[in-house]
Amino acid sequence: MANAPHGGQLKDLVARDAHLRESLIEESRSLPDIYLNERQLCDLELICNGGFSPLEGFMNQADYESVRDTLRLKSGDLFSMPITLDVSQEDIDSLKLAAGSRIALRDPRDEAALAILTVEDIYRFDKALEAERVMGADDPAHPSVAYARKNVKEFYVGGKVQAVQPPQHFDYVDIRFTPAELRAHFKKVSWRKVVAFQTRNPMHRAHRELTVRAARQHQANVLIHPVVGLTKPGDVDHYTRVRAYQALMPKYPNGMATLALLPLAMRMAGPREAVWHAIIRKNFGATHFIVGRDHAGPGKNSQGKDFYGPYDAQELVTKYKDELHIEMVPFQMMTYLPGSDEYQPVDEVPKGTPTADISGTELRKRLRTGAAIPDWFSYEAVVKVLRESYPPRLKQGFVILLTGLHNSGKDTIAKALSVVLQQQGGRSVSLLLGEAVRQDLGSIGDDVTAEDKDANVRRIGFVAAELSRAGAAVIAAPTAPLAKSRQAVRDLVASTGSGNYFEVHVSTPIEHCEKTDRRGVYKRARDGSLKGFAGVDLEYETPSKPELVVDLTQMTVPEIVHAIILTLETQSLV
Ligand code: ADP
Repeated sequence: MANAPHGGQLKDLVARDAHLRESLIEESRSLPDIYLNERQLCDLELICNGGFSPLEGFMNQADYESVRDTLRLKSGDLFSMPITLDVSQEDIDSLKLAAGSRIALRDPRDEAALAILTVEDIYRFDKALEAERVMGADDPAHPSVAYARKNVKEFYVGGKVQAVQPPQHFDYVDIRFTPAELRAHFKKVSWRKVVAFQTRNPMHRAHRELTVRAARQHQANVLIHPVVGLTKPGDVDHYTRVRAYQALMPKYPNGMATLALLPLAMRMAGPREAVWHAIIRKNFGATHFIVGRDHAGPGKNSQGKDFYGPYDAQELVTKYKDELHIEMVPFQMMTYLPGSDEYQPVDEVPKGTPTADISGTELRKRLRTGAAIPDWFSYEAVVKVLRESYPPRLKQGFVILLTGLHNSGKDTIAKALSVVLQQQGGRSVSLLLGEAVRQDLGSIGDDVTAEDKDANVRRIGFVAAELSRAGAAVIAAPTAPLAKSRQAVRDLVASTGSGNYFEVHVSTPIEHCEKTDRRGVYKRARDGSLKGFAGVDLEYETPSKPELVVDLTQMTVPEIVHAIILTLETQSLV
């Protein structure tokens, strides 16, 4: 029989009745709105579908303080994580928030009214104290503390919610289940014992072995229940992870395991988070819950020490085991034994037995370089998914920005480089040259003022960064006389994740550029009929830290192209 929900009753706050839903939507039109952020959206979804049972809304002051200080709601029910809705003084004033008022909580993506909150109280809270009590330290190295400092406003609004409709998802809709749906599924397939596995990382063989071992120990089935809401900044994106989980599922004996996604916003609160995770899995119908090493660990604090001990989470869950009513399955670190080609928890490995592990850092390095990832560590199908999302450098896009005066040779070098890269193959090559860009992409203003020039270089940078994100070799050759515009392009490329940006300063002296100018452009700039011309009436700000400096009076075009290729080679891009 499936586990009873936390607090005894599964909350299911979504309006099923079409008339009720319509009347709530109608009412929401005349109510003040709060557009939820990503974390609040995740919280609301799990409040409404019962994942956070017994919660029925965002915590009022009494519940919040009680949870913060004692891990209990005012009712006495165990609950380890404050679930709060933050607002600013300005929100309170402009929305006229007061006890008793009703507010529509909206999905910012499609503006749908998801719920109506009846305000119970609005209260100030102490961020530092909350960090100390809940996260264990008011240290911005903790992702939740950093998040709170940056994003959380100064008041909380407490109150019950009346759910209107669940947020609409477009990804992996078929493997998203509410607690009620998952419970119904377990019933249908006659799973009486279900061991849930929480994860925010791609799963490899160690995790498969760990979950199967847990199933064997308890004669249970396995629920792979990965978090697809917010996780730790820098984690593998959930799209990639879910593809990797889907690739892993066939490695379980048929019928043993199922995959369902959990729209949770993690707090990385280690022990408190483990208790919270256990409560959530119990609500989803699991009877057992795996807590391994460093569960929901946030990493190191500002002193370089771990925030929590590796098994603190297991300890706290054990402390509350009598009232959690979901059995923890504790695991020590799983490690590989090459001698017998199997995984075992470290505490079961006989002394002196050789072991092997590949750390997360080492795995990322191997993905980056394309180095082999052994079969004992993962599965070919899983590695394939990861390699598609993290292509080795040879397959990553990059941007080469050639900057320099008019007629310095930028275009000639760009075209020659494009030919050489096309001969090399493996990527599509995009050329973004001055005139063509001006004609086809258009330009901002008449491109005379420094502001216009800056804006135009940024728009080229945007296109270049997007193309490189898709894996192209991009060669752009605007004059780009301003340091700030070049920095903006560098930042844009960095924001794609690759950061493969190369600034090549074509430093051919102006005398040469002017002398060989057969179209008379310098002449027009000198006599004033052409304004905003770099090197004449607009300063060309010499790049201070380009990746490469080349000069057409010192080197031939093939030599320059070769120098650029050599620069790319230092980064293993060719
Ligand atoms: P998080 O705990 O933040 O969700 P993971 O996805 O890495 O992070 O881990 C999911 C669960 O699996 C946790 O309970 C963790 O302790 C456990 N776990 C992960 N890797 C191992 C391992 N090699 N040995 C034992 N437990 C592990």
